[in-house]
Amino acid sequence: MKFLITGGAGFIGSAVIRNLIFNTKHNVLNIDKLTYASNLNSLESVNNSDRYIFKQVDICRVDQVKEIFGAYKPDVIMHLAAESHVDRSIDNPKEFLDTNIYGTYVLLEETRNIFSKGKKVLFHHVSTDEVYGDLHDIEDAFSETSSYEPSSPYSATKAASDHLVRAWGRTFDLPFVITNCSNNFGPYQFPEKLIPNTILKALSGDNIPIYGDGLQIRDWLFVDDHADALIKVALSGIYNETYNIGTNNQMTNLSLVNKICEIMDVIAPKKDFNLNSYSDLIVFVKDRPGHDRHYAIDASKIANEIGWESQNSFQEALSETVKWYLNNLDWVTGILDGKSSLNRIGIIK
Ligand code: NAD
Repeated sequence: MKFLITGGAGFIGSAVIRNLIFNTKHNVLNIDKLTYASNLNSLESVNNSDRYIFKQVDICRVDQVKEIFGAYKPDVIMHLAAESHVDRSIDNPKEFLDTNIYGTYVLLEETRNIFSKGKKVLFHHVSTDEVYGDLHDIEDAFSETSSYEPSSPYSATKAASDHLVRAWGRTFDLPFVITNCSNNFGPYQFPEKLIPNTILKALSGDNIPIYGDGLQIRDWLFVDDHADALIKVALSGIYNETYNIGTNNQMTNLSLVNKICEIMDVIAPKKDFNLNSYSDLIVFVKDRPGHDRHYAIDASKIANEIGWESQNSFQEALSETVKWYLNNLDWVTGILDGKSSLNRIGIIK
């Protein structure tokens, strides 16, 4: 099968591509605009595979997307490209509307175009549990039928894109699946996100900021488990269905940050700062506007219908993630100076 992955130079997309190349025989075309959040170094291990191709493409550019679809004729479009950081969506929502809504529309139209000419195709839209908004007392966890109540510009644009995908399915019979997952963690995540930010601040002895009281609850999903779930859904999900992906690893942000500090106290004890524990660096900062208090995912549908369950224990995966960042500071420097993607364009296939 030919997979067209959008946003494959990002955190989750690169995990999906590594999984497809190492564990399956499928072919992958990765299209990515290479924004600040991308890093082609995350794909170094697959670069030499003859089943992997990369093209720099902006999904908002109809001409570029048309050319790719015409030349590659994908069987599965797995759509991960997005502006993904909530704080940036509060500072500058427009790029989120462009990529997350208009870019999804462009991809849907090109998929419809090849589908209308008889090409068998599946549009797999990767979305978030944040479309459901804050978990209210009436539910223990979000199911696939929970109502949409997005709180941030980011989640509103993801919700809009989910609606577009369902509308293209209903109106134009376009085969699709949608997956909504909880917070991911693991290697290769851009350092602005909570877990890598905590590790890197601790390492340099800087304050570790936590929004508000730190009691916001999230359900944490290891990125390799997520990639595995996405591939299973793409290959054996029922068309025009939605699947929630999560693990029931619920905890407060404060508890998560304390766990990271405990791991670092053991594997990277810092003697030159006057600290009992890295957790002494925690400071509470003004809360993010519109910050949801609680997300939780009911993942029974994907377990019952597709047989997916997470394989990695949370504690081990968190320790591995901390170790990965400590051992891969070059990757961090590369993505932060913005050169890791752009200076490699000349040598990519
Ligand atoms: P990311 O920010 O790490 O990567 C996004 C990728 O999309 C980047 O490589 C970027 O260059 C690319 N991109 C952005 N705009 C583009 C455009 N116009 N054209 C082509 N490429 C473009 O994001 P991620 O964490 O890997 O998330 C991937 C998907 O999963 C997103 O759709 C996100 O909404 C969803 N999701 C993420 C999480 C999470 O915890 N990270 C949770 C739920 C859902």
